[in-house]
Amino acid sequence: MARIVMKFGGTSMAGTERIRRVAQLVKRQAERGDEVAVVVSAMAGDTDRLVNFCREANALYDPAEYDVVVAAGEQITSGLLAITLQALGCNARSWLGWQMPIHTDDAHAKARIGSIDTDELLASMASGSIAVIPGFQGLTDDNRVTTLGRGGSDTSAVAVAAAIKADRCDIYTDVDGVYTTDPRIVARARKLKAVTYEEMLELASVGSKVLQTRSVGLAMKEGVRVQVLSSFIDENAPDADSIPGTMIVTDEELENAQVERQLITGIAADKNEAKITLTRVPDRPGAVAHIFAPLADANINVDMIIQNVGRDKGETDVTFTCPQADLARCTDILENQRDAIGYNRLIPDTKVAKISVVGVGMKSHAGVASTMFSSLADRKINIQAISTSEIKVSVLIDEDETELAVRVLHTAYGLDAE
Ligand code: ASP
Ligand code: MG
Repeated sequence: MARIVMKFGGTSMAGTERIRRVAQLVKRQAERGDEVAVVVSAMAGDTDRLVNFCREANALYDPAEYDVVVAAGEQITSGLLAITLQALGCNARSWLGWQMPIHTDDAHAKARIGSIDTDELLASMASGSIAVIPGFQGLTDDNRVTTLGRGGSDTSAVAVAAAIKADRCDIYTDVDGVYTTDPRIVARARKLKAVTYEEMLELASVGSKVLQTRSVGLAMKEGVRVQVLSSFIDENAPDADSIPGTMIVTDEELENAQVERQLITGIAADKNEAKITLTRVPDRPGAVAHIFAPLADANINVDMIIQNVGRDKGETDVTFTCPQADLARCTDILENQRDAIGYNRLIPDTKVAKISVVGVGMKSHAGVASTMFSSLADRKINIQAISTSEIKVSVLIDEDETELAVRVLHTAYGLDAE
């Protein structure tokens, strides 16, 4: 007997037919004698719809009430899945975020999970009842409903898996695993048998939309065994226990598994960044601090930064990127600080894409970045900014060249399938 958390995303929960399919998968797992907790998302599109209702009601809505509204999508699907499981003869009940409860801080709309009370839940599961848990929801110390930020059901699933010490957390989604890159861009992309937590964290944060970034960080911290696999499979498909999807593992596990390692594990493209250039910034100590301190105060996440070599007049240009969603706030802040910073022009640009190559292999190999630069140069793709970490190199390019760049790099690093 094992203890398994199964998580189903919005596409898998979209409508009665699909929920029935999910219920069959859950039933199959429970019939092996496993204790099963299921974490579900709202039906695809429902959360967007609920968010819009809040905006229409009042652009400056109270985030605490927003959470009451948007948490409803998951309440519906958890109840529906419990009903459907019962119709298949299973013993099942829903456990809402406030019923367990899942304790969070009070940062409404982006709350963080503190702890989860599991005594009753575990007792119920031990008695043979399948627990159906709405993702995305939590409760503050003063009993207000919270949500975890968009895509937060992944984090709920990992947190539940950690709290009940599950043997595995299976994340069922509309792709059958983690690929070397988006298969819609590169038809010869390959499904990976395993990726490390670190790699998955980098891939998630640079635009691979398979898992919410925060959920990967949590899985790494808590050592939760996570598998990404497809929920769209037929009767004869191999079961989840035979690991048909992609496992997220530690460095050591990966070495022991002796899967054939490539230098680069995956390539991701992110079109949600914006670039800002400030021209003729004074080239003296403190100038850059004047730019980035107010942005940090406003919680704007700056990613790539370049400061060009100073010109004769003691001036320089500074370029950086931030999420496109924060661009308006960012330019507003910088325009207000214009005199304090002392720049000439502010040039925003949203027609950019960040292309990242990720792989633990690069820790012990030189030349990864230079392969990237020369492959792009061969195709006359201009690099506007660069940033690196121990296992990642990112470049900023013209958005129109995204697909070409991803294809070229996929081939350059030998990732194309036979
Ligand atoms: N329904 C929520 C969202 O769309 C949470 C999730 O699906 O992960 O963001
Ligand atoms: Mg999701």
